[in-house]
Amino acid sequence: MGAAAAEDGIVGRGNREGARLFREWFEGLTQAAEQERGAAYVFVMGSLGELLRVFDLPLVFPEINSLQTAVRHVAHEYLNEAEDIGYSPDICGYVKADVATQRRGGVLPMGRIPKPAIAVLTNACNTYIKWGEIWERMYGMPAYVLDVPGTREAGGQTWPGHGDFERDRRYVASQLRELIGVLENVTGKRFDIDRLREYMGHANTMNRGWKRVLELNASRPSLFNALSDGTVYLGVCNGFRGDAKGAKFFDQLVEEMEYKRAHGIGTLTDEQFRLVFVGVPCYPIFRRFTELFMEHGGTFVHSTYLWFASGGSNLGFEYDLADPLDSLAEGLLIGVRDAMDSMFFQTRALATMIDEFAVDGIVFHPIKSCRTVSTGLADHRRALMEMRDIPSLFIESDMMDRRVVSEAQLKNRIDAFFEGLHSRRQQAAAGIS
Ligand code: SF4
Repeated sequence: MGAAAAEDGIVGRGNREGARLFREWFEGLTQAAEQERGAAYVFVMGSLGELLRVFDLPLVFPEINSLQTAVRHVAHEYLNEAEDIGYSPDICGYVKADVATQRRGGVLPMGRIPKPAIAVLTNACNTYIKWGEIWERMYGMPAYVLDVPGTREAGGQTWPGHGDFERDRRYVASQLRELIGVLENVTGKRFDIDRLREYMGHANTMNRGWKRVLELNASRPSLFNALSDGTVYLGVCNGFRGDAKGAKFFDQLVEEMEYKRAHGIGTLTDEQFRLVFVGVPCYPIFRRFTELFMEHGGTFVHSTYLWFASGGSNLGFEYDLADPLDSLAEGLLIGVRDAMDSMFFQTRALATMIDEFAVDGIVFHPIKSCRTVSTGLADHRRALMEMRDIPSLFIESDMMDRRVVSEAQLKNRIDAFFEGLHSRRQQAAAGIS
């Protein structure tokens, strides 16, 4: 294959395929809604897609549906509808958009979602639990909360073989066994461990691929923008977890990134500054937000969002298919714990990444309506500044609510940040410290 032909086929394939899979996924959900099939409502931090597929449950990710209303510029209609019936402007915008979605019979800009037959949640975010209670009240279906033990202190994680870890793993495994019983009751289907093995095998391929793709972006120039392209890949990582199509997507994505690295094809033609993003994206002006950085030659080489919002898949954990249930518990514990650490204890990982990814600056983006991710970001910034001499930007907006997103203010702050980066570079070149 000639270089141009290869580029035509390979370069940009992840974005094209990601968009295609997304459309396909929503067509499937719309069909399930029309057939009045009950779905499993799940969250990105601990979705257990590989287990739920065994019971043929369509997977609905309310967080992803809600953020899509913001990307498509209609979130305000959904937020207003929920606020009109008493939901506070301060609570998680995803919850409010979902409440309005349910009141509209599941109608979203991308299609229609089926009603829940069950919700499966983890304790990774306290909002998940209150959100599940809303559906219980609306539909009277069960909401199963998996209690996944978190890290007791920064850097205090234990691993397989350690007594604390083994006790935590057994605790999670016992909950999974109980959940399987609940799923059998809800669906009327018997649990099939061989199907679970098959889906866990696909999840292994996806986890392995996701880890590799993230590592490859340490290349110079960086191969993809962690905020824009990365969010497309993340959508597949979540929505197709355990699916053969998800496994194929990640095999191909690794191939694309390896190809780009080998041929020096960067996400920007003239990469000037390599940045890391901390927090949740600004979905109401999603594309424009990234452009405000790209206009200065800045690209995001990494993001904590790609860690916690993938439920810890970034670690590349692979299940032992010879012992599926205990291994599923181990993977869930390690992944969800890492997702929580990526929100609450990310400072050390960021400090390490500064060298590994040759980072020029860190962008902290706390948002009004996600307290879980945003609380403490100012302290994390201060702690990181004490550990490393790295410029940082602290800008506030929201993931859903355009009323608190001011593009002009963001632009002023971002422009000033790049001025600082330029002058720091000039001083370094002149030997001024
Ligand atoms: S992590 Fe943030 S955005 Fe997600 S459900 Fe919790 S509060 Fe909402």
